[in-house]
Amino acid sequence: MENASSNFIRNIVIEDLKTGKVDQIVTRFPPEPNGYLHIGHARSICLNFELADEFNGRTHLRFDDTNPLKEDVEYVESIKEDVRWLGFEWDGLFFASDYFEEMYNRAVLLIKKGKAYVDDLSAEEIREMRGTLTEPGKESPYRNRTVEENLDLFERMRKGEFKDGEKVLRAKIDMASPNINMRDPVLYRIAHATHHNTGDKWCIYPMYDFAHPLEDAIEGVTHSLCTLEFEDHRPLYDWVIQECEMEHVPRQYEFGRLNLTNTVMSKRKLKQLVDEKYVDGWDDPRMPTVSGLRRRGYTPESIRNFIRELGVSKGSGVVDTQMLEHFAREDLKLKAPRTMAVLRPLKVVITNYPEGKVEMLEAEINPENPEMGVRQIPFSREIYIEQDDFMENPPPKYFRLFPGNEVRLKHAYFIKCNEVIKDEQGNVVELHCTYDPETKSGSGFSGRKVKGTIHWVEAQHAVPAELRLYEPLLLDDTDGEEKDFLELVNPNSLEVLQGFVEPNMKDAKPHDKFQFFRHGYFNVDPKDTTSDQLVFNLIVSLKSSFEV
Ligand code: ATP
Ligand code: MG
Ligand code: MG
Repeated sequence: MENASSNFIRNIVIEDLKTGKVDQIVTRFPPEPNGYLHIGHARSICLNFELADEFNGRTHLRFDDTNPLKEDVEYVESIKEDVRWLGFEWDGLFFASDYFEEMYNRAVLLIKKGKAYVDDLSAEEIREMRGTLTEPGKESPYRNRTVEENLDLFERMRKGEFKDGEKVLRAKIDMASPNINMRDPVLYRIAHATHHNTGDKWCIYPMYDFAHPLEDAIEGVTHSLCTLEFEDHRPLYDWVIQECEMEHVPRQYEFGRLNLTNTVMSKRKLKQLVDEKYVDGWDDPRMPTVSGLRRRGYTPESIRNFIRELGVSKGSGVVDTQMLEHFAREDLKLKAPRTMAVLRPLKVVITNYPEGKVEMLEAEINPENPEMGVRQIPFSREIYIEQDDFMENPPPKYFRLFPGNEVRLKHAYFIKCNEVIKDEQGNVVELHCTYDPETKSGSGFSGRKVKGTIHWVEAQHAVPAELRLYEPLLLDDTDGEEKDFLELVNPNSLEVLQGFVEPNMKDAKPHDKFQFFRHGYFNVDPKDTTSDQLVFNLIVSLKSSFEV
Protein backbone atom coordinates (compact mmCIF):
# COMPACT_ATOMS: atom_id res chain seq x y z
CA MET A 1 0.00 0.00 0.00
CA GLU A 2 2.17 2.74 -1.31
CA ASN A 3 0.00 5.64 -0.38
CA ALA A 4 -1.23 4.35 2.90
CA SER A 5 0.82 6.88 4.80
CA SER A 6 -0.88 9.73 2.99
CA ASN A 7 -4.24 8.39 4.08
CA PHE A 8 -5.24 10.93 6.71
CA ILE A 9 -8.43 9.05 7.56
CA ARG A 10 -6.33 6.00 8.33
CA ASN A 11 -4.24 8.11 10.67
CA ILE A 12 -7.36 9.24 12.48
CA VAL A 13 -8.46 5.63 12.88
CA ILE A 14 -5.07 4.63 14.26
CA GLU A 15 -5.28 7.48 16.76
CA ASP A 16 -8.85 6.66 17.78
CA LEU A 17 -7.93 3.04 18.40
CA LYS A 18 -4.80 4.00 20.30
CA THR A 19 -6.56 6.46 22.60
CA GLY A 20 -9.42 4.03 23.15
CA LYS A 21 -11.96 6.43 21.66
CA VAL A 22 -13.29 3.39 19.83
CA ASP A 23 -12.72 -0.32 20.42
CA GLN A 24 -13.58 -1.39 16.95
CA ILE A 25 -14.14 0.72 13.89
CA VAL A 26 -17.38 0.49 11.96
CA THR A 27 -17.62 2.01 8.49
CA ARG A 28 -20.41 1.89 5.96
CA PHE A 29 -20.94 2.22 2.26
CA PRO A 30 -24.28 4.01 1.89
CA PRO A 31 -25.46 4.11 -1.74
CA GLU A 32 -28.81 5.44 -2.73
CA PRO A 33 -30.38 2.73 -4.93
CA ASN A 34 -31.21 5.16 -7.72
CA GLY A 35 -28.75 3.94 -10.30
CA TYR A 36 -25.81 1.63 -10.92
CA LEU A 37 -22.52 2.19 -9.17
CA HIS A 38 -19.74 4.00 -10.97
CA ILE A 39 -15.98 4.10 -10.47
CA GLY A 40 -16.40 7.03 -8.07
CA HIS A 41 -18.44 4.80 -5.80
CA ALA A 42 -15.73 2.19 -6.10
CA ARG A 43 -13.41 4.65 -4.41
CA SER A 44 -15.78 4.97 -1.48
CA ILE A 45 -16.26 1.20 -1.35
CA CYS A 46 -12.53 0.47 -1.30
CA LEU A 47 -11.90 3.13 1.30
CA ASN A 48 -14.56 1.92 3.69
CA PHE A 49 -13.98 -1.80 3.33
CA GLU A 50 -10.20 -1.70 3.26
CA LEU A 51 -10.05 0.52 6.31
CA ALA A 52 -12.24 -1.84 8.31
CA ASP A 53 -10.37 -4.89 7.00
CA GLU A 54 -7.03 -3.47 8.02
CA PHE A 55 -8.11 -2.69 11.57
CA ASN A 56 -10.32 -5.67 12.19
CA GLY A 57 -13.45 -3.60 12.01
CA ARG A 58 -16.81 -3.96 10.32
CA THR A 59 -18.33 -2.46 7.20
CA HIS A 60 -22.04 -2.17 6.60
CA LEU A 61 -23.69 -2.04 3.24
CA ARG A 62 -26.55 0.33 3.81
CA PHE A 63 -29.05 1.38 1.21
CA ASP A 64 -29.82 5.01 1.75
CA ASP A 65 -33.32 4.53 0.40
CA THR A 66 -35.12 7.61 1.63
CA ASN A 67 -36.35 8.90 -1.73
CA PRO A 68 -39.04 6.60 -3.17
CA LEU A 69 -39.37 8.63 -6.35
CA LYS A 70 -36.08 7.51 -7.83
CA GLU A 71 -35.30 4.20 -6.21
CA ASP A 72 -35.76 0.68 -7.41
CA VAL A 73 -34.90 -2.90 -6.39
CA GLU A 74 -33.12 -3.41 -9.71
CA TYR A 75 -30.52 -0.98 -8.39
CA VAL A 76 -30.34 -2.69 -5.00
CA GLU A 77 -29.45 -5.98 -6.68
CA SER A 78 -26.91 -4.46 -9.05
CA ILE A 79 -25.18 -2.65 -6.19
CA LYS A 80 -24.82 -5.85 -4.17
CA GLU A 81 -23.41 -7.65 -7.17
CA ASP A 82 -20.92 -4.85 -7.87
CA VAL A 83 -19.65 -4.61 -4.29
CA ARG A 84 -19.08 -8.38 -4.20
CA TRP A 85 -17.41 -8.35 -7.57
CA LEU A 86 -14.99 -5.70 -6.36
CA GLY A 87 -14.01 -8.24 -3.75
CA PHE A 88 -15.81 -7.11 -0.60
CA GLU A 89 -18.31 -8.76 1.69
CA TRP A 90 -20.34 -6.62 4.08
CA ASP A 91 -20.72 -7.38 7.76
CA GLY A 92 -24.34 -6.36 7.71
CA LEU A 93 -26.92 -5.39 5.12
CA PHE A 94 -29.16 -2.50 6.11
CA PHE A 95 -31.89 -0.36 4.66
CA ALA A 96 -32.39 3.19 5.90
CA SER A 97 -36.09 2.66 5.30
CA ASP A 98 -36.10 0.10 8.13
CA TYR A 99 -35.46 3.02 10.49
CA PHE A 100 -38.38 5.20 9.35
CA GLU A 101 -40.31 4.65 12.59
CA GLU A 102 -37.30 5.48 14.71
CA MET A 103 -36.52 8.55 12.63
CA TYR A 104 -40.10 9.70 12.97
CA ASN A 105 -39.87 9.33 16.75
CA ARG A 106 -36.66 11.36 16.82
CA ALA A 107 -38.35 14.08 14.78
CA VAL A 108 -41.18 14.12 17.32
CA LEU A 109 -38.56 14.49 20.04
CA LEU A 110 -37.14 17.53 18.24
CA ILE A 111 -40.60 19.07 18.00
CA LYS A 112 -41.18 18.49 21.71
CA LYS A 113 -37.89 20.21 22.48
CA GLY A 114 -38.90 23.17 20.34
CA LYS A 115 -36.17 22.28 17.85
CA ALA A 116 -38.36 21.58 14.85
CA TYR A 117 -41.51 23.05 13.30
CA VAL A 118 -43.94 22.42 10.51
CA ASP A 119 -43.65 25.01 7.76
CA ASP A 120 -46.27 25.81 5.12
CA LEU A 121 -43.91 27.72 2.84
CA SER A 122 -43.31 26.23 -0.59
CA ALA A 123 -39.91 24.80 -1.49
CA GLU A 124 -39.26 27.86 -3.60
CA GLU A 125 -40.17 30.29 -0.84
CA ILE A 126 -37.92 28.43 1.55
CA ARG A 127 -35.06 28.65 -0.91
CA GLU A 128 -35.58 32.36 -1.48
CA MET A 129 -35.73 33.11 2.22
CA ARG A 130 -32.59 31.14 3.02
CA GLY A 131 -30.43 34.14 2.21
CA THR A 132 -26.92 34.02 0.77
CA LEU A 133 -23.37 33.86 2.05
CA THR A 134 -23.42 37.60 2.64
CA GLU A 135 -27.05 37.98 3.62
CA PRO A 136 -28.79 36.30 6.54
CA GLY A 137 -31.96 34.31 5.90
CA LYS A 138 -35.47 35.41 6.81
CA GLU A 139 -37.53 33.56 9.37
CA SER A 140 -40.63 31.76 8.19
CA PRO A 141 -43.94 33.15 9.48
CA TYR A 142 -44.69 29.60 10.70
CA ARG A 143 -41.49 29.34 12.71
CA ASN A 144 -43.10 30.08 16.03
CA ARG A 145 -45.93 27.59 15.99
CA THR A 146 -46.52 25.98 19.36
CA VAL A 147 -45.21 22.54 20.17
CA GLU A 148 -48.80 21.24 20.29
CA GLU A 149 -49.64 22.64 16.90
CA ASN A 150 -46.43 21.21 15.41
CA LEU A 151 -47.05 17.78 16.91
CA ASP A 152 -50.59 17.77 15.55
CA LEU A 153 -49.55 18.93 12.08
CA PHE A 154 -46.62 16.51 11.86
CA GLU A 155 -48.88 13.62 12.79
CA ARG A 156 -51.39 14.69 10.18
CA MET A 157 -48.57 14.94 7.63
CA ARG A 158 -47.82 11.33 8.38
CA LYS A 159 -51.46 10.35 8.08
CA GLY A 160 -51.57 11.71 4.58
CA GLU A 161 -53.86 14.70 5.17
CA PHE A 162 -51.72 17.01 3.04
CA LYS A 163 -50.57 16.99 -0.54
CA ASP A 164 -46.96 16.80 -1.72
CA GLY A 165 -45.20 20.07 -1.10
CA GLU A 166 -47.94 21.51 1.11
CA LYS A 167 -45.90 21.24 4.31
CA VAL A 168 -42.44 20.30 5.49
CA LEU A 169 -40.83 19.74 8.85
CA ARG A 170 -37.84 22.02 9.46
CA ALA A 171 -35.19 22.11 12.12
CA LYS A 172 -35.27 25.28 14.18
CA ILE A 173 -31.64 26.32 14.35
CA ASP A 174 -30.50 29.74 13.19
CA MET A 175 -31.60 31.70 10.13
CA ALA A 176 -28.60 33.99 10.54
CA SER A 177 -26.00 31.25 10.73
CA PRO A 178 -22.97 31.88 8.50
CA ASN A 179 -23.40 28.25 7.43
CA ILE A 180 -26.42 28.14 5.15
CA ASN A 181 -26.97 24.47 5.94
CA MET A 182 -27.84 25.51 9.48
CA ARG A 183 -30.59 27.92 8.42
CA ASP A 184 -33.52 25.79 9.46
CA PRO A 185 -32.92 22.90 7.06
CA VAL A 186 -35.85 20.78 5.91
CA LEU A 187 -36.00 17.46 7.77
CA TYR A 188 -39.11 15.86 6.27
CA ARG A 189 -41.11 16.31 3.13
CA ILE A 190 -44.35 14.84 1.88
CA ALA A 191 -44.21 12.38 -1.05
CA HIS A 192 -47.21 10.24 -1.85
CA ALA A 193 -45.21 7.57 -3.59
CA THR A 194 -44.82 3.83 -3.23
CA HIS A 195 -41.51 2.88 -1.66
CA HIS A 196 -39.67 -0.22 -2.88
CA ASN A 197 -39.34 -1.47 0.71
CA THR A 198 -42.10 0.10 2.80
CA GLY A 199 -44.76 0.24 0.12
CA ASP A 200 -47.46 2.80 0.95
CA LYS A 201 -46.84 2.81 4.67
CA TRP A 202 -45.26 6.25 4.59
CA CYS A 203 -46.06 9.44 2.76
CA ILE A 204 -43.46 11.56 4.53
CA TYR A 205 -39.78 10.92 3.96
CA PRO A 206 -36.72 12.18 5.83
CA MET A 207 -34.16 14.34 4.01
CA TYR A 208 -30.56 13.18 3.64
CA ASP A 209 -29.15 15.58 6.24
CA PHE A 210 -31.55 14.31 8.88
CA ALA A 211 -31.59 10.64 7.91
CA HIS A 212 -27.90 10.03 7.36
CA PRO A 213 -26.55 10.86 10.82
CA LEU A 214 -29.39 8.90 12.41
CA GLU A 215 -28.65 5.88 10.23
CA ASP A 216 -24.99 6.04 11.23
CA ALA A 217 -25.87 6.39 14.90
CA ILE A 218 -28.41 3.57 14.88
CA GLU A 219 -25.88 1.21 13.32
CA GLY A 220 -23.01 2.18 15.58
CA VAL A 221 -20.91 3.54 12.72
CA THR A 222 -17.74 5.10 14.11
CA HIS A 223 -16.20 6.71 11.02
CA SER A 224 -18.69 8.00 8.49
CA LEU A 225 -16.79 8.79 5.31
CA CYS A 226 -18.30 11.00 2.68
CA THR A 227 -17.19 13.23 -0.14
CA LEU A 228 -15.97 16.76 0.30
CA GLU A 229 -19.21 18.51 -0.69
CA PHE A 230 -20.56 17.46 2.67
CA GLU A 231 -17.90 19.24 4.70
CA ASP A 232 -20.27 22.18 5.27
CA HIS A 233 -22.98 19.77 6.35
CA ARG A 234 -20.92 18.39 9.19
CA PRO A 235 -22.18 20.90 11.80
CA LEU A 236 -25.72 19.83 10.90
CA TYR A 237 -24.72 16.17 11.12
CA ASP A 238 -23.42 16.77 14.63
CA TRP A 239 -26.49 18.87 15.55
CA VAL A 240 -28.86 16.05 14.54
CA ILE A 241 -26.92 13.48 16.56
CA GLN A 242 -26.89 15.71 19.61
CA GLU A 243 -30.41 17.11 19.51
CA CYS A 244 -31.95 13.74 18.71
CA GLU A 245 -30.10 12.45 21.77
CA MET A 246 -28.54 9.52 19.96
CA GLU A 247 -26.65 7.26 22.29
CA HIS A 248 -23.92 6.43 19.84
CA VAL A 249 -21.99 9.35 18.36
CA PRO A 250 -20.56 8.72 14.89
CA ARG A 251 -18.11 11.15 13.28
CA GLN A 252 -18.12 12.33 9.71
CA TYR A 253 -14.90 12.65 7.70
CA GLU A 254 -14.61 13.89 4.16
CA PHE A 255 -12.41 12.78 1.31
CA GLY A 256 -12.00 14.01 -2.28
CA ARG A 257 -14.44 12.92 -4.91
CA LEU A 258 -13.00 10.94 -7.77
CA ASN A 259 -13.36 12.57 -11.17
CA LEU A 260 -11.94 11.17 -14.40
CA THR A 261 -11.13 12.92 -17.66
CA ASN A 262 -13.72 12.47 -20.44
CA THR A 263 -16.12 10.93 -17.97
CA VAL A 264 -19.37 11.93 -16.32
CA MET A 265 -19.73 10.56 -12.86
CA SER A 266 -23.23 11.29 -11.76
CA LYS A 267 -25.92 8.67 -11.66
CA ARG A 268 -28.42 11.19 -12.96
CA LYS A 269 -26.35 11.86 -16.07
CA LEU A 270 -25.44 8.22 -16.57
CA LYS A 271 -29.14 7.36 -16.37
CA GLN A 272 -29.81 9.93 -19.06
CA LEU A 273 -27.26 8.24 -21.34
CA VAL A 274 -29.06 4.95 -20.76
CA ASP A 275 -32.63 6.25 -21.05
CA GLU A 276 -31.90 8.24 -24.17
CA LYS A 277 -30.12 5.26 -25.73
CA TYR A 278 -26.72 6.82 -26.22
CA VAL A 279 -25.41 3.54 -24.83
CA ASP A 280 -26.63 -0.02 -24.63
CA GLY A 281 -27.61 -0.06 -20.95
CA TRP A 282 -25.87 0.67 -17.64
CA ASP A 283 -23.32 -2.04 -18.38
CA ASP A 284 -22.34 -0.76 -21.79
CA PRO A 285 -18.55 -1.20 -21.90
CA ARG A 286 -18.12 2.53 -22.55
CA MET A 287 -19.83 3.43 -19.28
CA PRO A 288 -17.77 4.30 -16.17
CA THR A 289 -20.10 2.11 -14.15
CA VAL A 290 -18.70 -0.84 -12.25
CA SER A 291 -20.86 -3.12 -14.40
CA GLY A 292 -19.65 -1.39 -17.57
CA LEU A 293 -16.01 -1.73 -16.56
CA ARG A 294 -16.62 -5.39 -15.71
CA ARG A 295 -18.22 -6.06 -19.07
CA ARG A 296 -15.45 -4.17 -20.79
CA GLY A 297 -12.95 -6.50 -19.11
CA TYR A 298 -11.48 -4.57 -16.21
CA THR A 299 -10.54 -6.79 -13.31
CA PRO A 300 -11.47 -5.97 -9.71
CA GLU A 301 -7.75 -5.97 -8.88
CA SER A 302 -6.99 -3.32 -11.47
CA ILE A 303 -9.72 -1.05 -10.07
CA ARG A 304 -8.64 -1.59 -6.48
CA ASN A 305 -4.98 -0.95 -7.30
CA PHE A 306 -5.90 2.21 -9.15
CA ILE A 307 -7.88 3.51 -6.20
CA ARG A 308 -5.22 2.58 -3.71
CA GLU A 309 -2.68 4.49 -5.73
CA LEU A 310 -4.87 7.60 -5.57
CA GLY A 311 -4.94 7.65 -1.80
CA VAL A 312 -7.58 9.81 -0.14
CA SER A 313 -6.34 13.28 -0.82
CA LYS A 314 -8.68 16.03 0.30
CA GLY A 315 -8.49 17.55 -3.15
CA SER A 316 -11.00 16.63 -5.81
CA GLY A 317 -8.82 16.92 -8.88
CA VAL A 318 -9.56 15.27 -12.17
CA VAL A 319 -7.63 12.06 -12.64
CA ASP A 320 -6.46 11.06 -16.11
CA THR A 321 -8.44 8.05 -17.35
CA GLN A 322 -5.14 6.74 -18.71
CA MET A 323 -4.10 6.05 -15.15
CA LEU A 324 -6.98 3.60 -14.77
CA GLU A 325 -6.00 2.00 -18.08
CA HIS A 326 -2.43 1.70 -16.88
CA PHE A 327 -3.58 -0.40 -13.95
CA ALA A 328 -5.60 -2.64 -16.25
CA ARG A 329 -2.52 -3.36 -18.34
CA GLU A 330 -0.40 -3.93 -15.27
CA ASP A 331 -2.85 -6.47 -13.92
CA LEU A 332 -3.42 -8.31 -17.19
CA LYS A 333 0.21 -8.40 -18.28
CA LEU A 334 0.99 -11.65 -16.52
CA LYS A 335 -2.51 -13.11 -16.52
CA ALA A 336 -3.77 -12.75 -20.05
CA PRO A 337 -2.74 -15.32 -22.69
CA ARG A 338 -1.25 -13.82 -25.84
CA THR A 339 -2.94 -14.66 -29.06
CA MET A 340 -3.20 -13.33 -32.57
CA ALA A 341 -6.31 -11.69 -33.93
CA VAL A 342 -6.81 -10.00 -37.25
CA LEU A 343 -9.24 -7.13 -36.90
CA ARG A 344 -9.42 -6.00 -40.53
CA PRO A 345 -8.56 -9.07 -42.61
CA LEU A 346 -6.67 -9.18 -45.89
CA LYS A 347 -6.24 -12.59 -47.50
CA VAL A 348 -2.71 -13.76 -48.30
CA VAL A 349 -1.99 -16.78 -50.50
CA ILE A 350 1.45 -18.29 -50.04
CA THR A 351 1.91 -19.59 -53.52
CA ASN A 352 4.91 -21.85 -52.86
CA TYR A 353 3.36 -23.55 -49.83
CA PRO A 354 2.01 -27.05 -50.62
CA GLU A 355 -1.73 -27.16 -51.21
CA GLY A 356 -3.68 -29.07 -48.59
CA LYS A 357 -0.81 -29.08 -46.08
CA VAL A 358 -1.41 -27.80 -42.56
CA GLU A 359 1.46 -27.65 -40.08
CA MET A 360 1.29 -26.83 -36.40
CA LEU A 361 3.58 -24.17 -35.02
CA GLU A 362 4.42 -23.73 -31.40
CA ALA A 363 4.11 -20.41 -29.61
CA GLU A 364 4.50 -19.23 -26.03
CA ILE A 365 1.23 -18.39 -24.35
CA ASN A 366 2.79 -15.51 -22.45
CA PRO A 367 6.45 -14.64 -22.88
CA GLU A 368 6.32 -12.58 -19.67
CA ASN A 369 4.96 -15.55 -17.78
CA PRO A 370 6.56 -18.71 -19.22
CA GLU A 371 4.70 -20.90 -16.73
CA MET A 372 1.61 -20.47 -18.84
CA GLY A 373 3.17 -22.87 -21.36
CA VAL A 374 2.80 -23.10 -25.11
CA ARG A 375 0.04 -23.29 -27.68
CA GLN A 376 -0.21 -24.79 -31.15
CA ILE A 377 -1.13 -22.62 -34.11
CA PRO A 378 -1.96 -24.01 -37.54
CA PHE A 379 -0.23 -22.61 -40.61
CA SER A 380 -1.07 -23.26 -44.24
CA ARG A 381 -1.17 -21.80 -47.72
CA GLU A 382 -3.83 -19.21 -46.96
CA ILE A 383 -3.73 -16.77 -44.10
CA TYR A 384 -5.21 -13.43 -43.10
CA ILE A 385 -3.11 -10.46 -42.22
CA GLU A 386 -4.13 -6.98 -41.11
CA GLN A 387 -5.08 -4.61 -43.95
CA ASP A 388 -2.94 -1.97 -42.25
CA ASP A 389 0.11 -4.19 -42.50
CA PHE A 390 0.22 -3.83 -46.26
CA MET A 391 0.78 -0.74 -48.41
CA GLU A 392 1.13 -0.74 -52.12
CA ASN A 393 3.03 2.53 -52.14
CA PRO A 394 4.59 2.81 -48.73
CA PRO A 395 6.18 5.94 -47.32
CA PRO A 396 9.84 5.81 -46.22
CA LYS A 397 10.46 3.76 -43.07
CA TYR A 398 7.43 1.55 -43.62
CA PHE A 399 8.76 -1.86 -42.63
CA ARG A 400 5.67 -3.96 -43.05
CA LEU A 401 4.53 -5.67 -46.20
CA PHE A 402 4.71 -4.01 -49.63
CA PRO A 403 5.43 -5.30 -53.11
CA GLY A 404 8.90 -6.83 -53.16
CA ASN A 405 9.40 -6.58 -49.40
CA GLU A 406 9.88 -9.37 -46.91
CA VAL A 407 8.51 -9.49 -43.34
CA ARG A 408 8.38 -12.04 -40.55
CA LEU A 409 5.08 -13.68 -39.73
CA LYS A 410 5.09 -13.94 -35.95
CA HIS A 411 5.83 -17.54 -34.82
CA ALA A 412 6.11 -18.64 -38.49
CA TYR A 413 8.15 -17.71 -41.56
CA PHE A 414 9.42 -14.81 -43.63
CA ILE A 415 7.09 -14.02 -46.48
CA LYS A 416 7.68 -11.81 -49.48
CA CYS A 417 4.97 -10.01 -51.40
CA ASN A 418 5.01 -10.68 -55.14
CA GLU A 419 1.60 -9.79 -56.46
CA VAL A 420 -1.30 -7.57 -55.50
CA ILE A 421 -4.80 -8.65 -56.50
CA LYS A 422 -7.45 -5.95 -56.83
CA ASP A 423 -11.17 -5.85 -57.43
CA GLU A 424 -12.85 -3.79 -60.14
CA GLN A 425 -12.82 -0.68 -57.99
CA GLY A 426 -9.10 -0.99 -57.46
CA ASN A 427 -9.28 -2.17 -53.83
CA VAL A 428 -6.63 -4.58 -52.71
CA VAL A 429 -8.41 -7.87 -51.99
CA GLU A 430 -5.62 -10.44 -51.89
CA LEU A 431 -1.86 -10.71 -51.85
CA HIS A 432 0.24 -13.42 -53.40
CA CYS A 433 3.38 -14.09 -51.43
CA THR A 434 6.08 -16.70 -51.17
CA TYR A 435 7.58 -18.03 -48.00
CA ASP A 436 11.08 -19.25 -47.21
CA PRO A 437 11.03 -22.58 -45.32
CA GLU A 438 14.53 -21.87 -43.99
CA THR A 439 13.28 -18.97 -41.90
CA LYS A 440 10.99 -20.91 -39.59
CA SER A 441 10.65 -19.28 -36.22
CA GLY A 442 12.81 -20.96 -33.61
CA SER A 443 15.07 -22.59 -36.20
CA GLY A 444 17.93 -20.23 -35.47
CA PHE A 445 17.96 -18.89 -39.03
CA SER A 446 20.26 -15.91 -39.28
CA GLY A 447 21.00 -15.67 -42.99
CA ARG A 448 19.26 -12.33 -43.38
CA LYS A 449 17.14 -9.94 -41.35
CA VAL A 450 13.79 -8.29 -41.84
CA LYS A 451 12.64 -5.12 -40.16
CA GLY A 452 8.97 -5.91 -39.69
CA THR A 453 7.09 -8.62 -37.80
CA ILE A 454 3.38 -8.89 -38.38
CA HIS A 455 0.63 -11.10 -37.00
CA TRP A 456 -1.68 -13.36 -38.94
CA VAL A 457 -4.31 -16.06 -38.61
CA GLU A 458 -4.50 -19.21 -40.73
CA ALA A 459 -7.56 -18.82 -42.97
CA GLN A 460 -9.11 -22.27 -43.06
CA HIS A 461 -9.22 -22.74 -39.28
CA ALA A 462 -9.65 -19.12 -38.26
CA VAL A 463 -12.55 -18.40 -35.94
CA PRO A 464 -14.67 -15.45 -37.01
CA ALA A 465 -15.20 -12.94 -34.24
CA GLU A 466 -16.82 -9.60 -33.69
CA LEU A 467 -14.40 -7.06 -32.27
CA ARG A 468 -15.61 -3.95 -30.54
CA LEU A 469 -13.22 -1.05 -30.23
CA TYR A 470 -13.89 1.91 -28.00
CA GLU A 471 -12.99 5.53 -27.71
CA PRO A 472 -13.94 7.80 -24.82
CA LEU A 473 -17.70 8.23 -24.59
CA LEU A 474 -17.28 11.97 -24.11
CA LEU A 475 -15.07 14.32 -26.08
CA ASP A 476 -13.00 17.07 -24.53
CA ASP A 477 -14.79 20.35 -24.20
CA THR A 478 -12.23 22.11 -26.37
CA ASP A 479 -13.74 25.55 -26.80
CA GLY A 480 -14.30 25.87 -23.09
CA GLU A 481 -17.91 26.98 -23.45
CA GLU A 482 -20.29 25.51 -20.90
CA LYS A 483 -22.03 22.74 -22.80
CA ASP A 484 -24.65 20.23 -21.92
CA PHE A 485 -22.72 17.01 -21.51
CA LEU A 486 -24.90 15.33 -24.13
CA GLU A 487 -23.38 17.61 -26.74
CA LEU A 488 -20.00 16.11 -25.92
CA VAL A 489 -21.03 12.53 -26.61
CA ASN A 490 -18.47 11.09 -29.02
CA PRO A 491 -20.22 9.78 -32.16
CA ASN A 492 -17.29 7.43 -32.77
CA SER A 493 -17.07 5.90 -29.33
CA LEU A 494 -17.83 2.43 -30.69
CA GLU A 495 -16.39 0.71 -33.75
CA VAL A 496 -17.54 -2.80 -34.61
CA LEU A 497 -15.32 -5.01 -36.76
CA GLN A 498 -15.64 -8.53 -38.12
CA GLY A 499 -12.29 -10.27 -37.91
CA PHE A 500 -10.64 -13.56 -37.11
CA VAL A 501 -8.95 -15.09 -34.10
CA GLU A 502 -6.78 -18.16 -33.64
CA PRO A 503 -8.67 -21.48 -33.74
CA ASN A 504 -7.64 -22.36 -30.19
CA MET A 505 -9.91 -19.55 -29.03
CA LYS A 506 -13.11 -21.14 -30.24
CA ASP A 507 -13.94 -22.34 -26.73
CA ALA A 508 -13.29 -19.01 -25.05
CA LYS A 509 -15.80 -18.26 -22.30
CA PRO A 510 -17.44 -15.00 -21.31
CA HIS A 511 -14.97 -12.80 -19.43
CA ASP A 512 -11.89 -14.68 -20.66
CA LYS A 513 -9.24 -12.08 -21.28
CA PHE A 514 -6.51 -12.10 -23.92
CA GLN A 515 -3.76 -9.94 -25.22
CA PHE A 516 -4.13 -9.71 -28.98
CA PHE A 517 -0.60 -9.37 -30.26
CA ARG A 518 0.10 -5.76 -31.29
CA HIS A 519 -3.48 -4.64 -30.53
CA GLY A 520 -4.31 -4.72 -26.86
CA TYR A 521 -6.23 -6.53 -24.20
CA PHE A 522 -9.65 -7.91 -25.05
CA ASN A 523 -12.47 -9.45 -23.03
CA VAL A 524 -15.01 -12.00 -24.24
CA ASP A 525 -18.27 -10.07 -24.01
CA PRO A 526 -20.56 -11.81 -21.53
CA LYS A 527 -23.80 -10.53 -23.00
CA ASP A 528 -23.60 -10.86 -26.74
CA THR A 529 -21.28 -13.84 -27.14
CA THR A 530 -23.19 -16.94 -28.23
CA SER A 531 -22.14 -20.52 -28.93
CA ASP A 532 -21.51 -19.63 -32.55
CA GLN A 533 -20.43 -16.01 -32.33
CA LEU A 534 -17.56 -14.73 -30.26
CA VAL A 535 -17.66 -11.05 -29.36
CA PHE A 536 -14.62 -9.29 -27.94
CA ASN A 537 -14.45 -5.93 -26.18
CA LEU A 538 -11.27 -3.91 -26.28
CA ILE A 539 -10.25 -3.34 -22.67
CA VAL A 540 -7.18 -1.21 -23.34
CA SER A 541 -4.75 -0.84 -26.19
CA LEU A 542 -1.12 -1.72 -25.58
CA LYS A 543 0.32 1.73 -25.94
CA SER A 544 0.29 4.24 -23.21
CA SER A 545 1.83 7.59 -22.61
CA PHE A 546 0.95 7.34 -18.96
CA GLU A 547 3.56 6.81 -16.29
CA VAL A 548 3.18 6.48 -12.55
P1 ATP B 1 -24.13 10.52 -7.75
O1 ATP B 1 -24.06 12.00 -7.71
O2 ATP B 1 -23.30 9.90 -8.80
O3 ATP B 1 -25.52 10.02 -7.74
P2 ATP B 1 -24.05 10.13 -4.98
O4 ATP B 1 -23.02 10.65 -4.05
O5 ATP B 1 -25.37 10.81 -4.98
O6 ATP B 1 -23.44 10.05 -6.40
P3 ATP B 1 -24.66 7.84 -3.43
O7 ATP B 1 -25.34 6.61 -3.84
O8 ATP B 1 -25.34 8.74 -2.48
O9 ATP B 1 -24.31 8.61 -4.77
O10 ATP B 1 -23.18 7.54 -2.95
C1 ATP B 1 -22.79 6.51 -2.10
C2 ATP B 1 -21.41 6.82 -1.58
O11 ATP B 1 -20.49 6.92 -2.65
C3 ATP B 1 -21.38 8.13 -0.86
O12 ATP B 1 -20.72 7.95 0.37
C4 ATP B 1 -20.64 9.05 -1.77
O13 ATP B 1 -19.91 9.99 -1.06
C5 ATP B 1 -19.73 8.10 -2.53
N1 ATP B 1 -19.41 8.63 -3.85
C6 ATP B 1 -20.26 8.97 -4.83
N2 ATP B 1 -19.63 9.47 -5.89
C7 ATP B 1 -18.30 9.47 -5.59
C8 ATP B 1 -17.11 9.89 -6.27
N3 ATP B 1 -17.14 10.40 -7.49
N4 ATP B 1 -15.93 9.73 -5.63
C9 ATP B 1 -15.89 9.20 -4.40
N5 ATP B 1 -16.96 8.79 -3.71
C10 ATP B 1 -18.16 8.93 -4.27
MG1 MG C 1 -27.32 11.11 -5.54
MG1 MG D 1 -25.90 10.76 -2.19
